[in-house]
Amino acid sequence: MTDPTRPQTRPHDVLVIGAGGAGLRAAIEARAAGASVGLVCKSLLGKAHTVMAEGGVAAALAHVAPSDDWRTHFRDTMVGGKFLNNPRMAELHAVEAPKRVRELEEWGAVFDRTADGRILQRPFGGHSHPRLAHVGDRTGLEMIRTLQDRAVSMGIDVYMECTITRLITSRDGVTGAFGYWRTTGRPIVFPAKAVILATGGIGKAYEVTSNSWEYSGDGQALAYAAGAELIDMEFVQFHPTGMVWPPGVRGLLVTEAVRGEGGILRNATGARFMWMYLPEERRGEYAATDEEAARWVTALSQGKETDARRPPELSTRDNVSRAIYTEVKEGRGSPHGGVFLDISYLPADHIRRKLPSMYEQFKELADVDITKGPMEVGPTTHYVMGGIRVDADSQATTVAGLYAAGEVAGGMHGANRLGGNSLSDLLVFGARAGAAAAASATDRASEPYVDPVQVQSAARELAAPLERSHGEDPYAIQRDLQSTMQRLVGIFREEGDLDQAIREIAELRRRWADARVIGGRAFNPGWNLVFELGNLLTISEAVARSARQRTESRGAHSRIDHPATDDGTWGGRNSVVARGPDGAMRVYTTPLPAMRSELEELVAADHAAAAAVGSKA
Ligand SMILES: Cc1cc2nc3c(=O)[nH]c(=O)nc-3n(C[C@H](O)[C@H](O)[C@H](O)COP(=O)(O)OP(=O)(O)OC[C@H]3O[C@@H](n4cnc5c(N)ncnc54)[C@H](O)[C@@H]3O)c2cc1C
Repeated sequence: MTDPTRPQTRPHDVLVIGAGGAGLRAAIEARAAGASVGLVCKSLLGKAHTVMAEGGVAAALAHVAPSDDWRTHFRDTMVGGKFLNNPRMAELHAVEAPKRVRELEEWGAVFDRTADGRILQRPFGGHSHPRLAHVGDRTGLEMIRTLQDRAVSMGIDVYMECTITRLITSRDGVTGAFGYWRTTGRPIVFPAKAVILATGGIGKAYEVTSNSWEYSGDGQALAYAAGAELIDMEFVQFHPTGMVWPPGVRGLLVTEAVRGEGGILRNATGARFMWMYLPEERRGEYAATDEEAARWVTALSQGKETDARRPPELSTRDNVSRAIYTEVKEGRGSPHGGVFLDISYLPADHIRRKLPSMYEQFKELADVDITKGPMEVGPTTHYVMGGIRVDADSQATTVAGLYAAGEVAGGMHGANRLGGNSLSDLLVFGARAGAAAAASATDRASEPYVDPVQVQSAARELAAPLERSHGEDPYAIQRDLQSTMQRLVGIFREEGDLDQAIREIAELRRRWADARVIGGRAFNPGWNLVFELGNLLTISEAVARSARQRTESRGAHSRIDHPATDDGTWGGRNSVVARGPDGAMRVYTTPLPAMRSELEELVAADHAAAAAVGSKA
């Protein structure tokens, strides 16, 4: 019988960790360049977060609004990100997204269509034009199905239900990874000439989240431990609309497509409160009256162009989340602590066709028919804008041999991500990471050196929670961590709370170091959680410390004690987190990469307006 503690070894030129949109797209590109590729995921292939994406993929195809192009997409992304985006990434993203979406179509993705048979595009918050290619509200499913079919047909080796717990390093940088099979607990070592992290986000650090168990910040923590820098970790996106009732589904996403299709937000008094929360400098982009907003919705549902401006509900996510939070806090919330989102004024068959998953989700889970009445919604932790620092063109991290793409990487979205810009980010930068990693693997002629001491230490770390005779249940520690983050590092933050969070996280880490798990290695969810929890603790500390450092409000980061945007001190500066030589977390700032002059011209007016308003706030 095989010894379940003896590591297997599987070498590859390029190892991709994560099989969502970014990982699959990277694997396809690396394989197409001739590299042998291993693709690892900790759940089943096809079960990543990408499959959950509902609203669509943003790309300036200009099928619905002929005046759209990469420049307007670039500008919207920078404005939405409050000018903290890496401008080169935002440029590459805007320029290349249309090509990547068309390529997906060539590979078999069937998008919703315009009357003349082209890919249909829907509006979303913060996008000045209807821009999201979509498949009803199941876009991610179509995307992952298409990428997966392609990857499998190219002969990529897939390792499912396999968790990576450590990156292996040498003087040459990253040379592989160590992990274990979740089914048997057996360790596995992947020597690799290049490693791409595509492990997604961190939502499980919070109590209320749209994210699944997979989002435990593994990639960010693996990179951090290997010496990479993380940037802008304070920018955690709270999506304005998650379910608030019943308790078992609290946080589950209510796609922005509901607002994109004309959903109206109202408080308990029936007031359409978003009129009061539009930022002054952008008010001119939104409808001035209910009547103008209604004309916009009618034109949209008929697929016609209109001079009406978009409804106030399509403000950026950070703004809508703060508005809902404030309405509830000031006593104008719905019975279960949210607000009402209503689309039932549109024809029932139109709603069922455009939002089939939402229709079923509310019917099944909350016994609410959204064609007949409003939904109750409230903010939910959804996405992390911060992540591993990467080079815009290659997605190389600050550690040789290590690349990152997708939600795990930082820079692209600045202080706030626009809806739809993640799926396009995965395609654009997944492809770039795959190409660059394959090229670097070709350059690295020698076989990667896998340090046996690091493998032994990783194997000991793996066994420890099962071998302790005393110690705490990891689930209790995770619950306490989520409570700390929700209470103290949520939508609104202040110094005292952040200091308290940092202290609580340190204490939780002390408890975690002694966590004990009962049972064996095979199919043991508590044992799996121990490693994910270690990552969540690292990432939570990074979020809290970065939030403590940034003494201003910008995008998704709102400081009660520093409500203004302070461009003088913080404009154009990334927060950075890295591991110091003593093992402690260091936090500092570095300047953003410079913007080339053509791009500067595209956003100069917006930048000046935002700075003027921000400093007065
Ligand atoms: C409900 C919901 C709806 C959304 N809707 C949209 C939308 O309409 N448009 C849009 O642009 N964005 C949307 N988003 C955001 C978007 O879906 C995600 O940001 C994106 O899919 C992330 O893709 P990814 O490839 O980076 O990560 P994922 O798709 O999450 O893939 C991560 C992969 O990493 C693996 N992994 C993680 N840790 C490890 C480890 N330690 N070892 C091995 N494998 C590991 C996982 O198993 C998984 O395969 C939505 C998100 C959610 C939650």
